[in-house]
Amino acid sequence: MDNDIFLKIIAREVPADIVYEDEHCIAFHDIAPKAPTHVLVIPKRKTPKLSDFTPDKDPDVMHAFSKIPHVAKILGLEDFRVILNNGEGACQTVFHIHFHILGGKRLAWQPD
Ligand code: 5GP
Repeated sequence: MDNDIFLKIIAREVPADIVYEDEHCIAFHDIAPKAPTHVLVIPKRKTPKLSDFTPDKDPDVMHAFSKIPHVAKILGLEDFRVILNNGEGACQTVFHIHFHILGGKRLAWQPD
């Protein structure tokens, strides 16, 4: 059985504070926010990481990305940051592609 926590949230087996959902993606608040507003936008059809992604086979990833401005608007965010961690060495912990939307304060630019 797939132990993917995001599939469990999609299936309503694990609760989440959902802010947007349609046939192909879901968005909910991160359980450990790194900013005053921290929401994850997730394609419903699983692709583990961006390195595995192909536009033809993974249209839900494209769809989830396209919905980011809409989700930001729902959250009342004018300025925000979008992050996608690809791989363990880049701090990916859930291997089901997801876009982080971070905002709700003035964000500094502090890459390592
Ligand atoms: P990653 O580190 O893979 O880029 O991001 C995974 C994110 O999922 C983390 O920010 C983490 O806090 C969040 N997360 C992990 N488990 C859960 C959960 O059960 N519920 C919610 N809402 N977020 C989760």
